[in-house]
Amino acid sequence: MTSVSPVLLWFREDFRLTDNAALWAAAQEERPLLCIFVLEEAALPGGAARWWLDGAIRVLDSALRKRGGALHVLSGAAREVIPHLARVAAVQAVHWNRRYDPVGREVDTALKTALKEEGIVARSFAGALLNEPWTVRTKGGAPFQVFTPYWRAVRAAEPPRVPVAEPPSLSFVELPEEMKPHLVPLDRLGLTPTSPDWAGGLRDAWIPGEEEARAHLTAFLDTDVEAYAEERDRPAQDATSRLSPYLRFGHITPAQIWQAVERSGKAADKFLAELGWREFAWSLLFDRPDLAMRNLRPEFDALPWRTDSKGLAAWQQGRTGYPLVDAGMRELWRTGWMHNRVRMVVASFLVKHLLIDWREGERWFADTLVDHDPASNPVNWQWNAGTGVDAAPFFRIMNPILQSRKFDPEGEYIRRWVPELARVPASLIHAPWEADADTLRAYGVVLGRDYPGPIVDHKGARARALDAWGEFRKGI
Ligand code: FAD
Repeated sequence: MTSVSPVLLWFREDFRLTDNAALWAAAQEERPLLCIFVLEEAALPGGAARWWLDGAIRVLDSALRKRGGALHVLSGAAREVIPHLARVAAVQAVHWNRRYDPVGREVDTALKTALKEEGIVARSFAGALLNEPWTVRTKGGAPFQVFTPYWRAVRAAEPPRVPVAEPPSLSFVELPEEMKPHLVPLDRLGLTPTSPDWAGGLRDAWIPGEEEARAHLTAFLDTDVEAYAEERDRPAQDATSRLSPYLRFGHITPAQIWQAVERSGKAADKFLAELGWREFAWSLLFDRPDLAMRNLRPEFDALPWRTDSKGLAAWQQGRTGYPLVDAGMRELWRTGWMHNRVRMVVASFLVKHLLIDWREGERWFADTLVDHDPASNPVNWQWNAGTGVDAAPFFRIMNPILQSRKFDPEGEYIRRWVPELARVPASLIHAPWEADADTLRAYGVVLGRDYPGPIVDHKGARARALDAWGEFRKGI
C-alpha cells in the first residue's frame, strides 16, 4: 500500500476513463485513487434512466477492476458521506467533474465549503459541456435567449478544448474498513425494475458504457453524415447518432465528439448544431433553475389547460388512434428513446390537440427516457408548447397526419411499433379512420377493436387549441 495520500474521485454523471479531467488531474499528481459513486435515493433519476445508471455503474466498476481498482458504491447523502470518507481515508483532495443542474450545484457548493473547513481540497473540472454555461454571453453580458446568435457566438470563439486520453497508469487504495457499512454491493443497487421487470426492451436496445459510446460515434461517422441534415427527420431511418443517453451519463463528452467529427473531415455542421442545442439548453437551465416547473414566458400561466386523465393515459400508452403519435409513444415505452421528429409530434399532440399542460409530458418523458436530461427535456417541451424562449409559437399546431405522411411516407416506422396496422397500406396507414370499415377489415383492422379510433378529431382539436389561445391572448 502506498504512503502517498490518495485522491477521492467522485463519479456522478461522468462514467468514463477517457477525457475525464478529474481523473486525469489525479493521475498527473501520481496519486492513488479511491473511486466512489454515492447512491442517494432523493437524487435518483426516473425509471428508465435509473436502469441505465445501473449499467453505467457496473461497466465502470468492471473497467476499474481491470486496472486494479473498483467503483465503490456508497449509500447516504453525499454531503455527509464524502467528508466522512475523506477524513477516514486521509485523502489529499476530492475531485469531481462539474454538473450544472440546480440541486447538484447546491450540493457541490455546500460540499466544497465543508471540505475546505476540514482542510481538504475540493477540485472540480469541466467536461460535460463544450463551454461552461456561464461563459457564453451576449455583448452586454446577459445569457442568450435565442439559439442562432448563441451558436454563432460559440462557433466564433475558440474551438473546444482537446479531450484528454485515459491516464496511462492508475493506482488505487482500498476502501477503509470503517466505510464498509455504507458500501452497497452491486447486486443490491436496487436500480432495475423487478416486479414487473419492464426493462426487457431497454436491454434489447442498449448497452451502457464508454466502449459502446465510441462504437455509436464510429458507426455514425461511417454513415453518410452529409445526409444527416435531410435524413434526421425520418424516424424509420437509422440516420441519427443515438448518442443521447451516452452523453447524458457522460460515457462520452461533446469535446470527444467534436474532435472525432473534425478528424473525420466530414461536413457535419447540422449535427454539431444539435450538440449546440444541448449546450444552449444547459445554459438556459443554469440561468433558470425552475425551467421544468415554470413557463419561461409567464403570460402562459393564464392558458386554460385541460384536466383529462383519460386522454393523458391514451397518450402515454400509445393509444390515441393517431398512428405516428402511438408509434412514438410505444417506441419510448419499449426502448426508452424516441426519434426527435416524433418527440416533437407527440409533444405538440399532447399540448395542443389535448390541451394538456406540457409539464405532464415533461414528467412522463423524465420517467421513461433513458436519455432524460434535466436541461434538454424541459427546454424542448417549452419550445414545442410555445411557452419557452426562442420557441415555436403556440398557434403553430403540428398536423400529426401530415407529419406522418411527410416523414414516414411508407409507414415503415408506424408498422414497426404499431403491429396492429402492419398490413394497412401506406395510403391509409397515416389516418386509418378515413378508410371505410370493410376496407380496413380486409387489412385485419376493426377500429375500436384492434386499434383505437382517434381520441380527438384533428380539426376540432386544432380549433379548440386556437380558441383557448385566443381567449388567453385577450387577457394579456
Ligand atoms: P442526434 O440527432 O444524433 O444529435 C446528437 C446529439 O445532439 C444528441 O445526442 C443530443 O445530445 C443533442 N441534441 C439533438 N437534438 C437536440 C435537441 N433538440 N435539444 C437538445 N439536444 C439535442 N434530448 C435529450 O438528450 N434528453 C432529453 O430529455 C430530451 N427530451 C426531449 C423532449 C422533447 C419534447 C423533444 C422534442 C426533444 C427532446 N430531446 C432530448 C432532444 C432530442 O430529441 C434528442 O436529443 C435526440 O433525439 C437524441 O437522439 P440522437 O442522439 O440520435 O440525436
